[in-house]
Amino acid sequence: MTDSKTTDVLIIGAGAAGLSAAVAAHDSGAKVTVIEKGAKLGGTAAISGGIVWVPSNPNMQKKGISDSREDALAYFRSLDHGEMNDDSLEAFVDEGANALQFLTERGALDLQLLEGYPDYYLDNPGAKADGGRALDNALFDFTSLGDWSDKVYNGGEIVRMMLLETPLGGGSGIVDPDEMKRRVEGDLRGWGQALIGRLLKACLDRDIEVLLETSARKLALQDGRVVGATVTCGGAETTISARRGVVLATGGFEWDEELKTTFLRGPLTSPASPPTNTGDGLKMALTVGAGLGNMTSAWWIPTLSESGARWPDNGAPEKDAQRSVPVLIERTLPHSLMVNGQGKRFCNEATNYSALAGAFHSFDPATYGYNNLPAYLIVDSQYRGRYPIASVMPGDPSPDWIVEAPDLAGLAVAIGVDTAQLEATVSRFNTHAENVNDPDFGRGVSAYDRFYGDRSRDGAAATLGKVEVGSFFAVRIDLGALGTNGGPRTNGMAQVLNVYGDVIPGFYGAGNVISNPTGSVYAGAGGTLGPALTFGYIAGQSAARSEAH
Ligand SMILES: Cc1cc2nc3c(=O)[nH]c(=O)nc-3n(C[C@H](O)[C@H](O)[C@H](O)COP(=O)(O)OP(=O)(O)OC[C@H]3O[C@@H](n4cnc5c(N)ncnc54)[C@H](O)[C@@H]3O)c2cc1C
Repeated sequence: MTDSKTTDVLIIGAGAAGLSAAVAAHDSGAKVTVIEKGAKLGGTAAISGGIVWVPSNPNMQKKGISDSREDALAYFRSLDHGEMNDDSLEAFVDEGANALQFLTERGALDLQLLEGYPDYYLDNPGAKADGGRALDNALFDFTSLGDWSDKVYNGGEIVRMMLLETPLGGGSGIVDPDEMKRRVEGDLRGWGQALIGRLLKACLDRDIEVLLETSARKLALQDGRVVGATVTCGGAETTISARRGVVLATGGFEWDEELKTTFLRGPLTSPASPPTNTGDGLKMALTVGAGLGNMTSAWWIPTLSESGARWPDNGAPEKDAQRSVPVLIERTLPHSLMVNGQGKRFCNEATNYSALAGAFHSFDPATYGYNNLPAYLIVDSQYRGRYPIASVMPGDPSPDWIVEAPDLAGLAVAIGVDTAQLEATVSRFNTHAENVNDPDFGRGVSAYDRFYGDRSRDGAAATLGKVEVGSFFAVRIDLGALGTNGGPRTNGMAQVLNVYGDVIPGFYGAGNVISNPTGSVYAGAGGTLGPALTFGYIAGQSAARSEAH
């Protein structure tokens, strides 16, 4: 054991929630130490789209887009299956805009409206069909980070666009070559890298201590109060004492097999997040008696896994982990459908990814299994000629993970699906596509489905198109997540509660490690980072303003 150190507020985990907490705690007068187990920081947030969803946010207010506390609460409550608690839900709705305002004024955020980005449950009260609540990060100059510019985890890819410039955000995906040159020379980055870059810059500007490759192992308790943590750094163990509080911000547990099978409602085999999210925070919280909430849930998303795609090592126990990527537009663009192992469609492929997991988790009592896992994305040559599948662009040869066959019968054999059933399914789908009406699953009815489709086509044709021109292609689809979202329960002050609902003194939490304030509901694009930044802000302030022990 090496010498211990003392700080006011110890923040465990340097993702979106942790860095937001660090700025808030510092500006509330505390000495702050942030520890991060990776050799690079930023966690899932740094490789994310970086979109932030907050109701009545400052950008909406400036633009005169109407929104209200009542609308936001009505929206969430109409989606609640009993997992939300009023205190933390209302704290998110009431403090979200303040958190963004605070972080923006202090140079830790620079967000812009993602024009027209619809909420995910448009038939529910309080939903915004025309966008406003989802915000994009302005490009951030990484040269301003100096020696820290290569300390932000990027999963091996540098993003030089804002999300609103890409097809996902309604843009063309094309940047003028001179402008791109300027971005490369100036090391300008977008998406989650911009989000984390700015938050980190704000921490460095404040001389906040950020310790990399420093992993919390155990919380220190004194008379029932959390007073610090035992951490390992370079193989040596040390303790960090925290006079005012410890903020847990270690992300989810989607990379821990035992925690997943113990708690989640169904399989989560292929997470889209980096493998550093191993549930360390949840385990530490359990040892001090934290009560839990939302444990069956995650930010679900269908994923595909390109063979050979690996996460660059960042100090996680899984050194050579398979990288899986979200399947978003591939299942919403025309000339595509999804089938299960029986060759049958089982959902509106274009619906929002988090809710869609319910269809993947459908349990068949007859087979005692999940009949829709794995599933297969089926596309034809019209699709391949126009649209991408993950990193494979139109015109690229098909890699081994895209199965190709000249006809549907050959494709069915290649993926082990009944030939007659697959042909019947595709034939029925093609009739629906021709009629631009999907009576089986209603694909294309919602504005959401069409937003993620081909917006050069009108109405439901934005997402419905026949799968009829050979060759045909299939890609295996598994169920993953952007992170889990259950964990220790908190109140609206981000204080962790014990199993009896009482505050555990000195202990705070934010982000995917806690029981998410919006329950299992992914409200709209940015629906995880909005609560993470807000609860980081609340946790940092609460901890800094608490009485020192
Ligand atoms: C491909 C992809 C795209 C996404 N896009 C969006 C989007 O556009 N909008 C949105 O809202 N959400 C998005 N998400 C989800 C979002 O990124 C996460 O929900 C969010 O980053 C969670 O933030 P966090 O701070 O809780 O955790 P993280 O960002 O994962 O950070 C947790 C940090 O804690 C560290 N840590 C873990 N254990 C320890 C320990 N024992 N000691 C010290 N440090 C530790 C980790 O290394 C990590 O750096 C996306 C996710 C993925 C995978």
